Amino acid sequence: MDITQIVEDIAGAMARETERGKVADYIAPLAAIAPERFGMAVVLRDGSVHVAGDAEEPFSIQSISKVFALTLAIGAVGDQLWTRVGREPSGSAFNSIVQLESERGRPRNPFINAGAIVVTDVLLGHLEPREAIGQMLRFVRELASDETIRIDEEVARAEQETGFTNMALANYMRAFGTVRGDVAKVLGTYFHFCALSMSCRQLAMAGRYLMDGGRVEGRRFVTERRARRINALMMSCGHYDNSGDFAYRIGLPGKSGVGGGILCVAPGIASIAVWSPGLNGNGNSQLGQMALERLVYQTGWSVFEPKFS
Ligand code: GLU
Repeated sequence: MDITQIVEDIAGAMARETERGKVADYIAPLAAIAPERFGMAVVLRDGSVHVAGDAEEPFSIQSISKVFALTLAIGAVGDQLWTRVGREPSGSAFNSIVQLESERGRPRNPFINAGAIVVTDVLLGHLEPREAIGQMLRFVRELASDETIRIDEEVARAEQETGFTNMALANYMRAFGTVRGDVAKVLGTYFHFCALSMSCRQLAMAGRYLMDGGRVEGRRFVTERRARRINALMMSCGHYDNSGDFAYRIGLPGKSGVGGGILCVAPGIASIAVWSPGLNGNGNSQLGQMALERLVYQTGWSVFEPKFS
């Protein structure tokens, strides 16, 4: 199977697509991104990297950072995390507040905003915001073997200035005691995580630990069991109220962000990142999903594809 060719063919097909979705416009730095952009990177278990399109261009990973934050929080407090956040798909929008009332301030899962805010609060249980942000940056740099990854301060500032719904979520959870620390510090840290700026290549490299049972180049970052469980959560909850459809169409664990990126994992086979800023109605990259659908169709990498070898 010629993965380089497949990735290039997909990028070529995506360049011809006219229905590209709608670029997020809630903050100026995202609204300014051209909808023509498309990048894709596939890292195979043998270490080979296959890229096409704008795969080297950094973009705002936004909610994909929730995967890395979850990994750090599980590392810090283990299964205790699950006393404060659930593991069920939400079936509602990324920033929904309605469920929180009936479920007494305990978010459905760590990949909706409320859940990621709790995860951030957990990390701040033993770190100051500056330390937690530094830890996150070091973590993704190590995962990706790339010291050039940075946080876009302009994005972080814009999130802060417009994050009224996130403030409402955090304050509401503070009232229930699921968020325990200083709400402003928790949000400031959460917004910095969202503002991580990475290219498809860097993101696919950073996802290798989920492809390879928690290891990268022989070095262990999480246990095999935890890597498996993070993948399970990405499959069931990685795309907000579009998670079922993503599993149906693509059949791989994945996490999307409102910047138009998607990190996807074919366990034991590949770590994949796609980016195209135009979003579908659920806030997930329109072409990113389409590209992944083509990739699994051509490679048979869906976890639901029988592997008889
Ligand atoms: N910064 C966004 C927010 O918290 C992230 C949403 C997303 O990527 O889906 O609203």
